[in-house]
Amino acid sequence: MSFDARTDLARSLDAEDPLGWCRELFEGHDDPSLPAYLDGNSLGRPLKATAEHLNEFVRAKWGGRLIRAWDEEWLRLPEAVGDQIGRVALGAATGQCVVADSTSVLLYKVIRAALNARPGRSEIVIERANFPTDRFIVEGIARDRGLTVRWVETPHDGGPTPETVGSQVGPATAVVVLSHVAYRSAHVADMETITKLTHDAGALIVWDLSHTVGSVPVHLDACGADFAVGCSYKYLNGGPGAPAWAYVAERHLQGLDQPIQGWLGSSAPFGMGTAYEPAVGVRRLVSGTPPILGMVAMQDMLNLLEQVGMDEVRRKSVQLTSFAIDAVDELMGRAGVVIASPRDADQRGSHITIDHPAFENMLPELWEEGVIPDFRNPHGLRLGLSPLSTSFEETLTGIREIARKLGVATLD
Ligand SMILES: *Cc1c(COP(=O)(O)O)cnc(C)c1O
Repeated sequence: MSFDARTDLARSLDAEDPLGWCRELFEGHDDPSLPAYLDGNSLGRPLKATAEHLNEFVRAKWGGRLIRAWDEEWLRLPEAVGDQIGRVALGAATGQCVVADSTSVLLYKVIRAALNARPGRSEIVIERANFPTDRFIVEGIARDRGLTVRWVETPHDGGPTPETVGSQVGPATAVVVLSHVAYRSAHVADMETITKLTHDAGALIVWDLSHTVGSVPVHLDACGADFAVGCSYKYLNGGPGAPAWAYVAERHLQGLDQPIQGWLGSSAPFGMGTAYEPAVGVRRLVSGTPPILGMVAMQDMLNLLEQVGMDEVRRKSVQLTSFAIDAVDELMGRAGVVIASPRDADQRGSHITIDHPAFENMLPELWEEGVIPDFRNPHGLRLGLSPLSTSFEETLTGIREIARKLGVATLD
């Protein structure tokens, strides 16, 4: 395809995009010093409305209602926002999701709770290519509890499959911990089949949905998932350090035994009682004071996702990653750039990783020019395409700049 034809294609895809109007709602979308933001999977752009809402929050709620706002609103927010995440993005009925802590801390709490529900079993299964924090937390818990970690090996450009997970799961397995969308390759795991085979072995499963929530719709209740956790600063645009969320299937709520029992997860926090009595429901997963500021921005994005619907978001996401793969193949395939993500759209989340030895040193220069993918070892550039804020033209601009830096002509 000629240079002009590809430009025209990108522009017409944008013009025909039923979600094209969403892009203007985001801060910085028309900033000329930022021609291609391709890292919305690491830190989503803020919505313009969020700047106003944060301002309003400080003046009216924090400044105006002060301590009274805890009773009036804030104490209920972890469950209220949790329910919205569940309804909009997770296929989870009310009362099973809560916002708290960070993903790392919630992983710890939920994995420990899952282990407590499977006494007498000695193994935790996790994939070798899982995000570092997931692996580190599992290894720390295993050391603490004298358990064995069993590793699922996954290919560089793939992720865990029913076969590879099934080969590590057995009668000694207590808990399986997997990412649904792999942070490097964007491989989408078969949640339903893997959950079922885990249950068939009598074990429980914890899904990390950090790269899933807000980009790939899932149906946790329908899949029979046990537990899930995820970030809110990636595709939920909650802002840097916004709190994480967790899902606990209804059947595990009663008797849920998590290790950081704090006053705000107890049944009567203001009774200042002598003994810990867990709150009823998913509230018991909360430990301390909820991070309210981080929930303000998240609600703006959740409202937008609810308005457009996750199926539409997914449709756009697939279109964006397919467009990106075609452009990379055509512009950089001959230069030896390899697509390290699934080519089958059904098995791919909302980013792609492209590999080439020259990418190892390219990032600082790209960032300097406002072309912003991120880097993943050993020599991958990860292009995150956030369905509501990334345009086709922006995607093409970024890919052309990478090709230019690689020294390949972009005129074809
Ligand atoms: C981004 C990400 C995290 C981040 O955890 P934090 O506690 O928020 O730093 C964890 N797991 C996965 C799979 C991620 O992609």
